[in-house]
Amino acid sequence: MLQIQDLVVTAENKEILKGVNLNIGNGEFHVIMGPNGSGKSTLALTIAGYPKYNIRGGKIIFNGSEITNLPPNERVKKGILIAFQHPEEVEGVRIIEFLQQVLHELKGIDLAEVYDLIVKKAEELWFKEEDLHRYVNVGFSGGERKRLELLQAVLIEPKLLILDEPDSGVDVDSLSVISRKIEELHQKGTSTLLITHYGRILQHLDPSSFQVHVMKNGKIVMSRSGEFVKEIEEKGFQKIFEEVGI
Ligand code: ADP
Ligand code: MG
Repeated sequence: MLQIQDLVVTAENKEILKGVNLNIGNGEFHVIMGPNGSGKSTLALTIAGYPKYNIRGGKIIFNGSEITNLPPNERVKKGILIAFQHPEEVEGVRIIEFLQQVLHELKGIDLAEVYDLIVKKAEELWFKEEDLHRYVNVGFSGGERKRLELLQAVLIEPKLLILDEPDSGVDVDSLSVISRKIEELHQKGTSTLLITHYGRILQHLDPSSFQVHVMKNGKIVMSRSGEFVKEIEEKGFQKIFEEVGI
């Protein structure tokens, strides 16, 4: 489904990704871990088409067609959705209107019809109807922002969901609802690329059912089965890099 080949990315003339290769098949679950600053968010945002990153080499192929230079909105229409590490406040845009418009544009569902669906799904992510009339992320806590990212994913049901640290800044209760929703989407067939620092969000997944990739200094330096997450948590990245001589 997603093929990333020798991807080289710069921002402000600094090389951040230095030749990334990654393949994600239909319905697969992949995890990316790595020290701070290793390029995880840059990779996620580049797949989503974030315009501040310049692709200097390599390509991105999605469902057989090249999307390397496609604008972000076109990528969403093809089924790629990113849940941001740092969701932005959007003053003046109400959540409900935003979600209605997105679902109307993407799925052709009638605006009024979609309202009830949004309220129902929002309740599953602990939002009350009145919350939906607030502006997007304005005054929201870290956990609320991450739940709102998940709400968008649950409503859109993308083909590929990229989650950039959905567990950071989130309390244990929110973490459990977020991980449940990620697994639900995966069960329904969404391919998933999850960036995380902690194994905790993966605790309900069978470790043999996903792969983990470790990034270091702009490259994927290790790819293993999910059992490896435990080892990373126990030893830390530095020790693992030393052991394998990277
Ligand atoms: P991670 O998500 O793994 O913590 P990032 O992808 O956010 O890492 O960042 C990787 C490196 O690229 C960091 O050193 C960061 O400072 C740098 N970087 C990211 N975005 C930009 C940018 N827009 N301009 C300059 N440097 C950037
Ligand atoms: Mg990051």
